[in-house]
Amino acid sequence: TRQSVRNFLRRNTFVFFTVAAVALGVTLGFALRTRDMSLREIKYVSFPGELLMRMLQMLVLPLIVSSLVTGISSLDSKASGKMGVWAVIYYMVTTCIAVFIGIVMVVIIRPGKGNRDSPVPSSGNIESVQTADAFLDLIRNMFPPNLVEACFKQYKTVYSRKIYKRNVTIALNLTEALNGTEPTILANVSRLMQTIQETVEETVPMPGSSGGVNALGLVVFSMCFGLVMGNMKLKGQALREVFDGLNEAIMRLVAIIIWYAPVGILFLIAGKIVEMKDLVQVGGQLGMYMVTVIVGLFIHGLIALPFLYFAVTHKNPFTFIGGLLQALITALGTSSSSATLPITFQCLEENNGVDKRVTRFVLPVGATINMDGTALYEAVAAIFIAQVNDMDLSFGQILTISITATAASIGAAGIPQAGLVTMVIVLTSVGLPTEDITLIIAVDWFLDRLRTTTNVLGDSLGAGIVEHLSRQELQNQDAEICNSVIEE
Ligand code: ASP
Repeated sequence: TRQSVRNFLRRNTFVFFTVAAVALGVTLGFALRTRDMSLREIKYVSFPGELLMRMLQMLVLPLIVSSLVTGISSLDSKASGKMGVWAVIYYMVTTCIAVFIGIVMVVIIRPGKGNRDSPVPSSGNIESVQTADAFLDLIRNMFPPNLVEACFKQYKTVYSRKIYKRNVTIALNLTEALNGTEPTILANVSRLMQTIQETVEETVPMPGSSGGVNALGLVVFSMCFGLVMGNMKLKGQALREVFDGLNEAIMRLVAIIIWYAPVGILFLIAGKIVEMKDLVQVGGQLGMYMVTVIVGLFIHGLIALPFLYFAVTHKNPFTFIGGLLQALITALGTSSSSATLPITFQCLEENNGVDKRVTRFVLPVGATINMDGTALYEAVAAIFIAQVNDMDLSFGQILTISITATAASIGAAGIPQAGLVTMVIVLTSVGLPTEDITLIIAVDWFLDRLRTTTNVLGDSLGAGIVEHLSRQELQNQDAEICNSVIEE
C-alpha cells in the first residue's frame, strides 16, 4: 500500500503541476500581450515550449516502431486478430458518430447563414487536388518505398495544371487574335493545347508540406514485421527481446521528459496567447462556426465516447478520463496527437493500468488513423463553407462529405493543423471552392488544439474498450505462458 500511496501522490502531483501550468501559461500570455512584443521576443517566450515539442517528437519514431513490433509479436495470432478487429470496429463506429454529431450540429446551428462576412478573393487558376488522388496518396503512404525516407517524408501527388492553364490562356488569346483566319493555324493551336495538357498532367512525388514522419507507412510496416516475427520461433525470440528492450528504454526516457512537460506546456500556451490575433473580433459567422465545432467536440468527447465506454465496460468513464488528464492537456498544448503519444502511453499504462499488450498495439495505430475530433471538424467546416456560399446540399452530397471527412481524418497526420490541409479532399468532393479554406484559417489554431484533445481522448478510451473486449484472449494467453513455464 505504501507503493500505492506513493503512486497516488506522484500521479496527482503531476496532474496538479500540469493544470497549474495551463493556468500560469494563460495568465503569463495575457500579461505579455499588453506589451507590444516583436516576433523575435515571442519566439523567445515560446522557446521552452518548443523544446518540449522537440523532445516528444524525438521519441515518436522509435516509440511507434518498438511498441507495435513488440505489441503484435507478443500476442498469439488469435488474440491479435481479435484485438485488431475490435480496434477497427471501434475506430469506424466512433468516427462515424463524430461525423454525425458534427453534421447535426452544423445543420441545426447553421453558422454560415446570412450574408458572407467578407468576400474572399478567388485565387483563380490553381488546380485543386482531386478526391481520388488524395485517396490514392493515402494508400501510397501505407507502402513507403524507402523506410528511411518514411521517417521524414510523406507522399503527395500534385498536378502542375497551373502552367497548363496559363498556356491555354495564351493559346486562346492567340486563337481569338487570329479569329476567322487561317484554319491551319487554328488546328495547330488546338493541337498545341492538347500536348500541353498531356505533358503536364503527370503525378510527381513530393515531400509532404509538413515534412513530418510518414507515420502511416511506419505503422503498416511495423505491424507486418511484428506479425511475421511473432511466428518465428527461436530467432524471433531474440529479435523480440531487442525491440522489447528498446521500447522499455524509450518509456524510461518518457518518464524523465514528463517532469519537464508542465514547464513546456506553460510556455507553449503563453507563447500562443501572445501571438494570437484578437479573438474578441471574431464575431458573426466565424464565431458561430467556432461555437458549432466546440459544442460538437464537447458532445462527442464528454457524452458520446464516455457513454460508449460505460456501455461496453460498465466502468466509470470519468475515472478513466481522470487518469488521462496529463495526456489531454499535453494534446491541448502541443496540438499534435503524435507528439502526445509518449505521454498517452505513460498515462494509460501507469495511471489506468491498461495491459501493455493492448496499448502497444492500439495506441500507435490510433494516434495515426483514429481522429474523431478531426473528422467532426472536417464535416462541420465543409458544410459551413457550403452555407456561406448559399449552396444547398443534397442528402447525397452530405453523405459524400461524411465519407470524405472520414477519409480526410484518416489521412491527416497527427501534427498541428494537418486537418486543415486534408480539408481540400472534402471540399473538392462536393465541388466547393477550395480557396474558401481561407475563411476558417484564422481560428484554426484554436480549434486544432481542441480537436487534437478529442483525438487523444478517443484513442485512449479505445484502448480501454479494446482491452475489455479482448480480456478473454489475454487471459488465455497468460494461462498458456504460465503453463509452459511450469512445464519447463
Ligand atoms: N492536429 C491534429 C492531431 O494531431 C490533426 C488535425 O489537424 O486535425 O491530432
